[in-house]
Amino acid sequence: MWRVGAVVALHDETATARTITLEVAEWPGHVAGQHVDVRLTAADGYSAARSYSIASVPNSEGRVALTVVRLPDGEVSPYLTREVTVGDRLEVRGPIGGWFVWRPQQAEPIQLVAGGSGIVPLMAMIRTHASCGSTAPFRLLYSVREPGTVLYRNELQALPDQDRSVALTLAYTRAIPKDWPRPPGRIDAALIASTTWPATLRPTCYVCGPTAFVESAAALLTTNGNSPDKIRTERFGPTGDRR
Ligand SMILES: Cc1cc2nc3c(=O)[nH]c(=O)nc-3n(C[C@H](O)[C@H](O)[C@H](O)COP(=O)(O)OP(=O)(O)OC[C@H]3O[C@@H](n4cnc5c(N)ncnc54)[C@H](O)[C@@H]3O)c2cc1C
Repeated sequence: MWRVGAVVALHDETATARTITLEVAEWPGHVAGQHVDVRLTAADGYSAARSYSIASVPNSEGRVALTVVRLPDGEVSPYLTREVTVGDRLEVRGPIGGWFVWRPQQAEPIQLVAGGSGIVPLMAMIRTHASCGSTAPFRLLYSVREPGTVLYRNELQALPDQDRSVALTLAYTRAIPKDWPRPPGRIDAALIASTTWPATLRPTCYVCGPTAFVESAAALLTTNGNSPDKIRTERFGPTGDRR
C-alpha cells in the first residue's frame, strides 16, 4: 500500500548525502532496521521506485527520516538529494523487513558493521538503543571512503559521552585524517579480530552496505568464529525496480 509522505525537513549530512524527514499519513510505525520503498512519478506517468532504510527512531508522530547518498549517474538519488523541497509529497510503501531489525528487548552484545550508506539502518538501531535506555553493549565498525563521507559524524563522535554502551571504530578505504593510525584500506581480518566482539560472546551481527562489502564483511566475521546464523545482512545493491 502506497502512502503519501510530506517532506517536513531537509538536512545535508555531507556534500553528497541528504536526510529527508517525511510525515507519513497513517504511518503504522516501524522497527529499527526496516526500510521503505519510495516511488517517484513523472508527469507522463513514468515512475521509478527505490528502497531507502529508515534512519529515525520509531515514534508515534508518523515521522520517518531517510538518508540518501547521491550516485552521480543515478536516476532517483540525484533527485532526492537535490530537487526535493520542504512541502513536496513523496509516495512511500512500508515499513518493510522483519529480519534485519533490532528490538529493545534484545540484551545480547550487538556488532554493527557498515559500509558507506549502510550506516543508515544501523544508525536507527543506535538511536533506538539510546532512546529506550538499553544497556545492551553495541560495537560499530564503520567503513567509509574518506573523512568527508562519514554520515552522522557529530552524533557518532558524541556517542562515547552520551551512551557508554556503544563503541565506534571508523575505517577509511581511500584517504585518512591526519595522524590516523591505520593506513587506508578495506576492512580486513586483522581489523575484524581487533575491533569486533569475540565470537565466544555470541554477538548478533548486523552487516549493511553495498553487496560486495556485505559479502566480504560477513565472510570475515564467519572466519573470526561467528556463526552464520548470528549474522544478519542487508545488501544495498541496485534495486533497479521501475513500477
Ligand atoms: C533494502 C535497501 C535499502 C537501501 N537503503 C538506502 C539508504 O538508506 N540510503 C541510500 O543512499 N541508498 C539506499 N539503498 C540504495 C537505493 O535503493 C538505490 O539503489 C540508490 O539510491 C541508487 O538509486 P539511483 O536511482 O540513484 O541509481 P540507479 O539509476 O538505480 O543506478 C545508477 C548506477 O549506480 C549503480 N548502483 C545502484 N545502486 C547502487 C548502490 N547502492 N551502490 C553502488 N552502485 C549502485 C547502478 O548499477 C547503476 O550503474 C538501499 C537499497 C536497498 C535494497
